[in-house]
Amino acid sequence: MHNASGIRRILKDNGLSVNKALGQNFLVHAGKRDEIISLCGICRHETVLEIGPGLGALTEGIQPMCANMIAVEKDRGFSDFLKRYFADSGNIEIVNSDILRYKIPDFGEKVKVVGNLPYYITSAVIFHMLCQKSRIGSMFFTVQKEVADRITAGPACKDYGMLTIGISYHCTAKKLCKIGRGSFFPAPAVDSALIELNVRQCPAVHVASEEYFFKLIKAGFNKRRKTLYNALECAPGLGLDRAAIMDAFSLLKINPRVRAEELGLEEMAKLSEALSPHSRTDKPRGPEF
Ligand code: SAM
Repeated sequence: MHNASGIRRILKDNGLSVNKALGQNFLVHAGKRDEIISLCGICRHETVLEIGPGLGALTEGIQPMCANMIAVEKDRGFSDFLKRYFADSGNIEIVNSDILRYKIPDFGEKVKVVGNLPYYITSAVIFHMLCQKSRIGSMFFTVQKEVADRITAGPACKDYGMLTIGISYHCTAKKLCKIGRGSFFPAPAVDSALIELNVRQCPAVHVASEEYFFKLIKAGFNKRRKTLYNALECAPGLGLDRAAIMDAFSLLKINPRVRAEELGLEEMAKLSEALSPHSRTDKPRGPEF
């Protein structure tokens, strides 16, 4: 792999330049590169999808370790460079595409997705992958450290929010290691962390309507400073009146002063079931409070 001066030389020799708008920060710390690859636990039989290979820091380490690899890079200059670089390697395909438009082909087995993600689209990439989760076993992403904290936060913590719940509904999430800003060239303004997302066989909780469930959560977290009760009462699109919310809170023994971030995934799911028109309509009424 290349250090900062090696990257500068490759860029110059190939008539390429760094496009900040595409979140181009290249991994230049060999020790961190090796640690990331080792934590990804690549196996010989696996198909690996890499998002944003850039100049190939992770790619060249992973490609010899797996059965097949696809690397999707939006920058045409970089993908052309990688096509030349890997021209003699039979098990890798370089795709010049926007990952947000990319559909994972059916490889007959679940793929492992890896990537030092461009920060400007981190959440969009993760949710785009989750829309195709039946094709994915696990994902290993380098993300901004604050985003890693939000993804792996527990209830009642300031970082716990939509992103935490949205991801933990589909995956288990773990923070694996910190990656300082100095490991990249050019150095970004923030530190990073490697996270592991393992796709669950079934969602973490059962809800009759995922759409309603996520609308409810969005309404709760959009108004974080309000109690959940007040946030739901004034949420457009949920069609909830005071009595319905009061009944549901009472039935589930939820304190009416609670804020959205204080409820875990299961309690949120129960609340969604109690309030949703998609779940059964003959709900028992709880005592008034
Ligand atoms: N993997 C390389 C490394 O670690 O040195 C580069 C990582 S850099 C943080 C992010 C990479 O994602 C860049 O190469 C950038 O061009 C690419 N990228 C940005 N937006 C993209 C998109 N929408 N689809 C695919 N690749 C994208």
